[in-house]
Amino acid sequence: MKNGRIMDTIGKRWQAIKARIRAAALDAGRAPDSVSLLAVSKAHPASAMRELFLAGQRQFGENYLQEALAKQEQLQDLAIEWHFIGPIQSNKTQPIAQHFHWVHSVDRAKIADRLNAAREPGQTALQVCIQVNVSGESSKSGTSAADAIALADHIRQLPKLRLRGLMAIPAPTDDPQEQRSQFRAVRNIYDRLQSAGHDLDTLSMGMSEDFPAAIQEGATIVRVGSAIFGARIKPTAEQSI
Ligand SMILES: *Cc1c(COP(=O)(O)O)cnc(C)c1O
Repeated sequence: MKNGRIMDTIGKRWQAIKARIRAAALDAGRAPDSVSLLAVSKAHPASAMRELFLAGQRQFGENYLQEALAKQEQLQDLAIEWHFIGPIQSNKTQPIAQHFHWVHSVDRAKIADRLNAAREPGQTALQVCIQVNVSGESSKSGTSAADAIALADHIRQLPKLRLRGLMAIPAPTDDPQEQRSQFRAVRNIYDRLQSAGHDLDTLSMGMSEDFPAAIQEGATIVRVGSAIFGARIKPTAEQSI
């Protein structure tokens, strides 16, 4: 059965990625369970996510709000932990605040304020990361290192947000040394925030092509999409806007 074979492939790739995460952690002298895997499911169907959930994956990352909300409806019977990892437009903050457990891509005070205001009174705090830009102009989203500290201080005042750490998408490169130096720059900002009294535990960095380097530099969440689900062939409707 064709569909069954596809799912089998996803399950095998998932197992292989988990083994590589474990190996990278051990290689870095870290506990294997100090790195968690966020399965990035953008542009892949709810059916593939369901299979992966049944295999044991619980944390899923989505970039596009409408696509994510549609999948949440299809998968509402599953106890998925939903992470929003895409760019945030200010007119989308209300559904993002109400329908996700985590948001990795907070990059300005206005977005933080709006997420805080939109979280429902009965909901626990939204878990957030500040997205930082360590690649200068080559990456469009994220705050500078200097602004990250002011933004962290700002988020600390917001009762419905809980700052967990930093997220970054460094400029892609095949050079493992260059990968590591970019991830190290993120780690340095993280260390500065810790020294300034922020109680953090999350470094969300590393994707299909560079997660071993990210783990070497302290990643606690790696966000892996295509290495599990396969190539994203078509952009989603929102992506193409
Ligand atoms: C798409 C995406 C990923 C996953 O990328 P892959 O290269 O497919 O692993 C991770 N993080 C963010 C923010 C993304 O947009």
